[in-house]
Amino acid sequence: MYTRQEIAPEKIEEQREICRRVRRLFPEGEVHRALVDTYGCQQNESDSEILRGWLRDMGYAMTEREEEADVIVVNTCAIREHAEMRVFGNVGSLIHLKRRKPELVVAVCGCMAQKEEIRQRIKNSYRLVDLCFGPHEVWRFPELLEQALAVHGKSGNQGRVFAALPCEGVVAEDLPRLRAGGVKAWLAIMNGCNNYCSYCIVPYVRGRERSRRFADVLREAEGLIAAGYKDITLLGQNVNSYGRDLAGNGDFPELLRAVSALPGDFRLRFMTSHPKDATEKLFAAMGECEKCMPQLHLPVQSGSDRVLKAMNRGYTAEKYLQQIEAARAAVPGLVITTDMIVGFPGETEEDFQQTLALVEAVQFDSMFTFIYSRRPGTAAAKLPDNASREEIQDRFDRLTALANAISERRHAECAGEEYRVLIDGAEGTGAYNLTARTEGGRLVHLKGDAGRVGEFVTARITGSNTYSLFGEIE
Ligand code: SAM
Ligand code: SF4
Repeated sequence: MYTRQEIAPEKIEEQREICRRVRRLFPEGEVHRALVDTYGCQQNESDSEILRGWLRDMGYAMTEREEEADVIVVNTCAIREHAEMRVFGNVGSLIHLKRRKPELVVAVCGCMAQKEEIRQRIKNSYRLVDLCFGPHEVWRFPELLEQALAVHGKSGNQGRVFAALPCEGVVAEDLPRLRAGGVKAWLAIMNGCNNYCSYCIVPYVRGRERSRRFADVLREAEGLIAAGYKDITLLGQNVNSYGRDLAGNGDFPELLRAVSALPGDFRLRFMTSHPKDATEKLFAAMGECEKCMPQLHLPVQSGSDRVLKAMNRGYTAEKYLQQIEAARAAVPGLVITTDMIVGFPGETEEDFQQTLALVEAVQFDSMFTFIYSRRPGTAAAKLPDNASREEIQDRFDRLTALANAISERRHAECAGEEYRVLIDGAEGTGAYNLTARTEGGRLVHLKGDAGRVGEFVTARITGSNTYSLFGEIE
């Protein structure tokens, strides 16, 4: 049974005390380094920021180089089989390092680490892994790492650590975070998912939906603005159901208005929205809040009602199209993106044609296209496949070609336009050394002084391709 489990401040303080203890394990002046390697979605990126925050508090310096790391944490994704294979391949390849440096601590966490069959596989076949824990235990990472360090004789216990607290309703506040510097920040407003789309593993590994309290989200947003972040994205698997699990808490449109009303020069975005819960109230808030950007990622997954039903998505193609219309009417200049799955069990060519028709009707600015991946334990895993690999690949190629053609055309239409953009990076290659984002979230390549990162400027668009725009600073 699911119960919300708010971690008491004293428990977090215990973790801080462990951080101080771990620091004392290392002789004064000795530098220890840690690497956190992240797979998958923004939620994982957000968890990795907490892991890095804890590691910093334990005295570790961050590194990007495996050879110089004393701790390597692999934060994994279970959404598709391909993602899992990559993790196994990359974790396996750490064996060479581990042989050379036996005191290296290798930790595997994230969504894969929550699955029992994966934990067993790691236990039996990946003996180089010292520590394995799921997403619900990020809040007590210091305690777990301290136990893993013990394996190498640094403190008390012996043995590999496979953590498994029955804690799927965890909500923990005031965790440390080490965010990548710069101008963009993720702000997780909730965790977990209740939707049980029939293909998806997320509800099984990340648990039931639980929202952070309004006041906690606002406090974190204020901190981000004060720290100079200028592009804040509110994160959740389905932000539209934010607050439903908390009596007396506001809903998502209210939260959007409240964050947007905070003083400061910043932009506000959110992801992801589930179409079954996206309301006119949300679109009105988007349209009316000056700081809320005209960007909507609204994953549709299929254009066939039959497939949508089998996916347990809770809407029809027609309802989706009505929402797009309502959103565009409420939010001028709205940039709309989506996720699409091809090859769901039972998908026929006719279903696929309906997907193409929906894409034509909406004219998405860009699209993430996935080939269905069977996830053991989900409802769809039991359904028989009827299309061959070749057929599915062919559908995927046709869909990608259509999506790319639309993106290319939409981008080309931006030529000559002027946009207010936020310069967010200076690592570009060639003449276009700067990257920036329009209000709608489109990527723009610019030329200019690297010191301008963090500035809002006006850019005139001079060129484009399928994925981005090119422009000049006015
Ligand atoms: N919660 C979000 C939503 O409902 O749109 C996104 C969750 S998931 C991390 C991101 C995308 O992965 C989904 O929108 C879906 O298109 C895709 N996905 C999830 N499970 C999949 C599977 N078993 N096979 C292929 N793609 C999948
Ligand atoms: Fe997965 Fe559906 Fe939840 Fe998104 S809404 S995380 S696709 S179950």
